[in-house]
Amino acid sequence: MKLSLIIPCYNEEGNILPLFRAVNDAFEGRVSDYEFVFVNDGSQDRTGAVLRQLTEETSVPVTVVSFSRNFGKEAAILAGLRAASGGLLSLIDGDLQQNPVLVADMADYLDAHPECDCVTAVQASRNEKPTMVFFKKSFYAIINAMTDIHFEPNASDFRTFRRSVADVICGLPEHQRFSKGIFAWIGFNTHYIPYSAEERLSGTSKWSFWKLFRYATDGILAYTVKPLRIAGVLGASSMAASLGACALALRKDDKHTRENGLLAALILLMGGLQLTATGILGEYAGRIYLEGKNRPNYIVKETFTNQNDESS
Ligand code: UDP
Ligand code: MG
Repeated sequence: MKLSLIIPCYNEEGNILPLFRAVNDAFEGRVSDYEFVFVNDGSQDRTGAVLRQLTEETSVPVTVVSFSRNFGKEAAILAGLRAASGGLLSLIDGDLQQNPVLVADMADYLDAHPECDCVTAVQASRNEKPTMVFFKKSFYAIINAMTDIHFEPNASDFRTFRRSVADVICGLPEHQRFSKGIFAWIGFNTHYIPYSAEERLSGTSKWSFWKLFRYATDGILAYTVKPLRIAGVLGASSMAASLGACALALRKDDKHTRENGLLAALILLMGGLQLTATGILGEYAGRIYLEGKNRPNYIVKETFTNQNDESS
């Protein structure tokens, strides 16, 4: 069965050729029918030129989808899924942090297990700062507590799955995409294998702490409305508490300063709660607004391939 390797690339000029070679080496004698689908996500470096040259020079099937600007990894994954023609599809980063030998292992597993639809690599050990480890742990704890679907902790986007899974993902109409959530939500029979990420070959990670934080909150908000409910419950309880406190304060006829302080604290508490609730509402309203605009996830500037001379 043909395997399509989908590789989102944003400023990966130094990694594309080493990755291409590493994949060919890893597949030798193991995977015979495969294609590369690179998505150039608006890179500002020479990624586009490197991909163009590679496509022209190799006999291995390569397709390149180039975006008109940077639309983000999620959009690149979707474009790659749409352009891929294999019966098996793999998502792999363009920076060689994920060993292509594992892709062959995943494909073997799917061959041997017809009942399994998807193999996902789970990051076993993390060479990350303790704050980042804590943040990621909290993310999985929160999202699993707040949603009805199961998010496998540390499951990566590094996966291989069948065409049936890809068709379902491509058919989902939502615009603000969150792959971890999509894979968790669609279900299917998933097998998890451990892996440890290598060091990036060249270039830098595109994720800062705040970008990851945003990504995590986006993920949580996309899969549950519980934060709205929590805001409501908090608001109601604080109102009850402040009513109680007022009743208490009214009974006293001295210690004016303390009472005034108490009153001020209550006013602040109420204000804070209202702002929090409004903020959460705003987050959801903003998402409705963005979905309502119905804009495409990305704009393709050009697509080229060394297969049947199709170029646009
Ligand atoms: N990527 C992308 N668009 C972006 C950011 C990242 O296509 O806006 C690609 C990037 O080129 C790489 C993969 O997504 O192939 C993972 O990105 P990165 O290595 O920066 O993430 P990390 O490994 O640090 O989580
Ligand atoms: Mg990386």
